[in-house]
Amino acid sequence: MTRRKLLLGMAAAAAGAPAARGAGTDWTKASQEAIGRLREYIRIDTSNPPGNVAGAVSFLAGVLQKEGIQSERLEAAPGKVNLLARLPGNGSKRALLLLNHTDTVPADRSRWQTDPWGAEIQLNRLWGRGAVDMKSTGILHLMAFLLLKRNRVPLKRDVIFAATADEEVGGGSGAKFLLDKYPQKVESEYVLEEGGFSANRLFTPEGDVYGVSVAQKQVLWLHLTVEGTGGHGSQPADDNAIAMLSGVLRRIVETAPPKRTDPILDQMLTRLGTLADNRFANSMRRNSIALTSFRAGVGDPPKDNVVPSIATASIDCRLLPGQPVDEFIEWVRKTGAEPKLKIENVHHQPSQPPSPADTELFRLIETTVAREAPNAKVTPYLTPFGTDGNFFRRPDRYVYGFFPVVLSAEEVMSMHSDAERMPVAPFEKGLRMFYEVVAGIAG
Ligand SMILES: [Zn+2]
Repeated sequence: MTRRKLLLGMAAAAAGAPAARGAGTDWTKASQEAIGRLREYIRIDTSNPPGNVAGAVSFLAGVLQKEGIQSERLEAAPGKVNLLARLPGNGSKRALLLLNHTDTVPADRSRWQTDPWGAEIQLNRLWGRGAVDMKSTGILHLMAFLLLKRNRVPLKRDVIFAATADEEVGGGSGAKFLLDKYPQKVESEYVLEEGGFSANRLFTPEGDVYGVSVAQKQVLWLHLTVEGTGGHGSQPADDNAIAMLSGVLRRIVETAPPKRTDPILDQMLTRLGTLADNRFANSMRRNSIALTSFRAGVGDPPKDNVVPSIATASIDCRLLPGQPVDEFIEWVRKTGAEPKLKIENVHHQPSQPPSPADTELFRLIETTVAREAPNAKVTPYLTPFGTDGNFFRRPDRYVYGFFPVVLSAEEVMSMHSDAERMPVAPFEKGLRMFYEVVAGIAG
């Protein structure tokens, strides 16, 4: 036994012999069960809007019921139902919350090559809306929860299964509703959620990296408006609103947003060395700007012979946690370089301070990956998009996005796309690793 293996063995023993808690589990069978349940789950259309998740909640509650686990439905509005279930621990530690949302973004059937709610398996991939974001994680949570019960694992902390509504439109009737109305029901020391990815060539140019999300970027939506002279199309003026706003947008996209350092980014660079060059990794390490709308024209459809007096665009900015918002808006104004430009801050969601990477749960994730995937790296990282976890992150409540099924970079970036898909083969190992982490921290 090498010194490294010995140390890992000791760490595993200290965490409480992970193998024993899963002993007797037939992981191939458990994985087949998980994939079957995931297919059923994807076939329940929970597109948001409208975000009616009652059917999905009935499905999950039915599975729990069959295993003798009672669950509670908490409805924020018609169809916006949240589901909670709890496995009781001995109370010596604060709870672990498994947080997953039941809604998905919509899908345009005409743009898909498979039925987005068909959950077909082709080319060893499971295709469908929610396959990545995040019904697969929900099923991983559900299976780990069921296996704790089936294996009669003695728990030192409660384990809570929380399936929330409305994440895709901001969480008002989901995570936020639960925290506002029923904080005691979701009180916990640790939260495991989405936003983390284990992937090949997503974070680094080569190799597998288990990226555990410990924080997320700020969200800032700006409306940019320019007013000019409107009138008859036969008599153009110099101050055309469309021309002026187009110039502003061109200057913004052609100039790199202000660079910043960030402590999480520094940790990633230390652990991983070189970072990959793809749109996910690029967004993770800098302030980013996406142009998302442009409106001008008079009438609907807009008249061809009328010069509008106003043009408006929206930009979606995702800022590193330490970036002051006012300074960023000032940068947009300066870069736009148009005296008539008006900027309106229509939405800002700040980042909560990151969860530390030296907790019992984070270390358990590290030892589990070291044991099961010795060639892979683990890193804390910054999720480039928003999740429900942001509501839960607090100095004494640690929130981690963790999903140990290894995907390709393309599969990760298929979330919200017309070809969302999850590889079937690595699901078994991912399920086992996830269970080992959950059973290790709670058992
Ligand atoms: Zn999601």
